[in-house]
Amino acid sequence: MKRDAIHVIGGGLAGCEAAWQIATYGLRAILHEMRPIRSTAAHKTESLAELVCSNSFRSDDAAHNAVGLLHEEMRRLDSLIMRAADANQVPAGGALAVDRDGFSAAVSDAIATHPLIEVCREEIAGLPPDDWDSVIVATGPLTSPALADAIGKLTGEDALAFFDAIAPIVHRDTIDMAVAWFQSRYDKAGPGGSGVDYINCPLTRAQYEAFVDALIAGDKTGFHEWEGTPYFDGCLPIEVMAERGRETLRHGPMKPFGLTNPHPGTSKPYAVVQLRQDNKLGTLFNMVGFQTKLKHGEQTRIFRSIPGLEQAEFARLGGLHRNTFLDAPKLLDPTLRLNAMPRLRFAGQITGCEGYVESAAVGLLAGRFAAAERLGETLGIPPPTSAHGALLNHITGGHVETIDAGPRSYQPMNINFGLFPPFEHALPLDENGKRLRGPAKALARKQALCRRALDDLAQWIGAARLAAE
Ligand SMILES: Cc1cc2nc3c(=O)[nH]c(=O)nc-3n(C[C@H](O)[C@H](O)[C@H](O)COP(=O)(O)OP(=O)(O)OC[C@H]3O[C@@H](n4cnc5c(N)ncnc54)[C@H](O)[C@@H]3O)c2cc1C
Repeated sequence: MKRDAIHVIGGGLAGCEAAWQIATYGLRAILHEMRPIRSTAAHKTESLAELVCSNSFRSDDAAHNAVGLLHEEMRRLDSLIMRAADANQVPAGGALAVDRDGFSAAVSDAIATHPLIEVCREEIAGLPPDDWDSVIVATGPLTSPALADAIGKLTGEDALAFFDAIAPIVHRDTIDMAVAWFQSRYDKAGPGGSGVDYINCPLTRAQYEAFVDALIAGDKTGFHEWEGTPYFDGCLPIEVMAERGRETLRHGPMKPFGLTNPHPGTSKPYAVVQLRQDNKLGTLFNMVGFQTKLKHGEQTRIFRSIPGLEQAEFARLGGLHRNTFLDAPKLLDPTLRLNAMPRLRFAGQITGCEGYVESAAVGLLAGRFAAAERLGETLGIPPPTSAHGALLNHITGGHVETIDAGPRSYQPMNINFGLFPPFEHALPLDENGKRLRGPAKALARKQALCRRALDDLAQWIGAARLAAE
């Protein structure tokens, strides 16, 4: 039976992977890419799957690293992006880096020669025609203005952001609770809170002064000319606030008021850094109001000077970029369909994932969901213990929404172990039969998470095959 094609808008990392997966299901895909007729501020070529900046897909260690694990899962799911990356690898130690031209050429060639994929070089400058009953929108962080405008009108003004404002996120188990404590300001429970929702890190006056000095002196990243400067009050980078006056932070995100340090022998804090739960699992906490343009190395160095965060491990560091993305946890269903118009699915960075690999992985899922739907099959969502499931859960439901004066709380995120449900079984013992501690324990935990992910993904793949038979 001849079935209608599934339309994919955007021939980047996510769109190419989605079209490939659809074709792998034996279905027709039409890929609409606007370049070279119209370009973005970051793309330089007309190739599909162009890498706009670095040529690295980051760590390729599938036994200990979350993005390495995502690579391996994608390979097991017949990913075109991973096939092209592996075939065009250049030496980069433990990272998977690629010859960017060879990589894009390999993807472009595979798409152009696939009998079930048609490429149309055109901009989709508004909502897709009504007779396109299954569409994947994968137009990326630099979605063309006409389409972004149409999506914004459909979803509501606040639901589509044009800049991210990323505060660093810390793994909860790396915060020193002998120094920090749980409390909400003035013990207020608020809607949905308990009065002890925030983790508070106290600074003395000397520590605060040194912190302000470090922020002002710290090395920062500038904006690209085409990005503009998206500062608005309520979302200023902390270093800009520090430059406006030495007390500004103490009367802004670092206010000490309404908080009492319960640890014995401590005095009233001069300033406090608050961290708020970021995911439903409670494994990640974000530093409230700490969006920043400091360079990543500087952020790690300066934020670890905050009492309680000396050993902090960061799931995500702060940033501020041009980035078009949806408030996906509110707008999308678990298979990435727009609640308000289910014929539209979203994929790639526009959903609020971050990075080449993550964008491609979400494209892979969107392609599979759309194909299964077209065939009338039931494809369950991947297990939350897998890297694909953890990423999907972050996008469609794992985020804890908070409402305050700052930028929208859902912000783009790379894959990281904080998105995975904790490993509940006992870890192996050391050679003396003793419990592992410190770095050895952290390593064993990562290994266990990776093994569990691949085992659980194998079951999902098996179940999908059975459903297709
Ligand atoms: C400047 C910049 C630098 C980045 N650097 C890195 C990095 O070094 N490493 C990293 O991992 N991630 C980086 N990212 C983040 C991100 O992972 C990449 O942008 C990634 O390419 C996103 O994949 P995507 O498929 O969602 O979007 P894209 O790869 O951008 O693909 C979207 C495609 O849609 C097309 N398109 C847009 N609008 C329309 C329309 N209306 N009709 C038809 N086609 C349309 C575009 O031309 C483009 O080809 C960067 C992002 C930016 C903006």
